[in-house]
Amino acid sequence: MEKINEIFKNKDKTFSFELFPPKTDKGFANLLATIEQLATLKPDFISCTYGAGGGNRGKTLEVVEHIQNKHEIAGLAHLTCVLHTKEEIKDILQDIKSRGVKNILALRGDSPQDNPDWKPSEENFKYSSELCAFTRETFDGHFGIGVAGFPEGHQLCPDKALDAKYLKAKIDSGADFVITQFFFDNSDYFNYVERLRNLGVTARVIPGILPVTNYPSLIKFCGLCGTTVTDELKEIFEPIADDKDATLEAGIQFAIRQCRELLTGGAPGLHFYCLNKVSPTDKILAEIR
Ligand SMILES: Cc1cc2nc3c(=O)[nH]c(=O)nc-3n(C[C@H](O)[C@H](O)[C@H](O)COP(=O)(O)OP(=O)(O)OC[C@H]3O[C@@H](n4cnc5c(N)ncnc54)[C@H](O)[C@@H]3O)c2cc1C
Repeated sequence: MEKINEIFKNKDKTFSFELFPPKTDKGFANLLATIEQLATLKPDFISCTYGAGGGNRGKTLEVVEHIQNKHEIAGLAHLTCVLHTKEEIKDILQDIKSRGVKNILALRGDSPQDNPDWKPSEENFKYSSELCAFTRETFDGHFGIGVAGFPEGHQLCPDKALDAKYLKAKIDSGADFVITQFFFDNSDYFNYVERLRNLGVTARVIPGILPVTNYPSLIKFCGLCGTTVTDELKEIFEPIADDKDATLEAGIQFAIRQCRELLTGGAPGLHFYCLNKVSPTDKILAEIR
């Protein structure tokens, strides 16, 4: 299976999806059926999160292997270094490699809700940039490495200029490309890319897209992720917050506009946070591709 950087060589723009590993066997079976449908949309790669929101860490690689082996689509395994020692990370990377997976999204992650006081010691990587450097040095180019980017600045680093420097450190430590946190004001993305280019970062910065399907849940999710609920979003979705069908339709129309503007403005593709569902990503893609 290809490294994602190799896919970039042949494609100006990539379309990709993000999934998360379900906690139950039933959820896992449902996800395999969802992947079956998502595969028909011919994404360039599909990623699977690792331990996000207390998710099932052990299943990430099973999902990624399934994507690659059954559907012949490049898989991107997220890997967070919180709660793992450097030795454990080495073993996990070895396991990822032995399963034929060549792409990781190298993340620091957050201390879990049930262990909020966890702090890295000498045995742990402190930042994603250290994980990038370790992966590059120890696995000698086997992996394509993606990292997370934050167009509005990371929650713990509201100084956007400084946050952009930390992003550059991840690229300088061996990362190949960036996938961003979701956002709803495209100028946040374009300004972010400009900040990075001014620092000499030439890597692709793929915008993360979250289609709005449920406004009250979105507000909570934005609070957790540090994404601004823009005035435009409030104007569109507040009046129809109780109407599921109207929200879904407005969410599709908003995402289509957002994606078109991003692609026209030079974004090198789109990464959809599918939340383990086919719709509405299928409808949005059908309009913009
Ligand atoms: C595309 C995407 C996918 C994600 N997938 C997952 C997932 O699968 N599982 C999961 O648990 N979470 C996931 N997350 C969330 C992510 O783990 C959190 O946002 C986390 O808080 C930051 O991770 P990071 O890799 O960006 O950390 P880092 O790049 O290490 O940055 C963490 C913080 O430290 C600061 N910083 C970086 N370097 C330095 C330095 N040298 N000195 C001082 N400060 C520094 C940064 O500005 C930031 O505030 C994802 C986020 C995105 C955008």
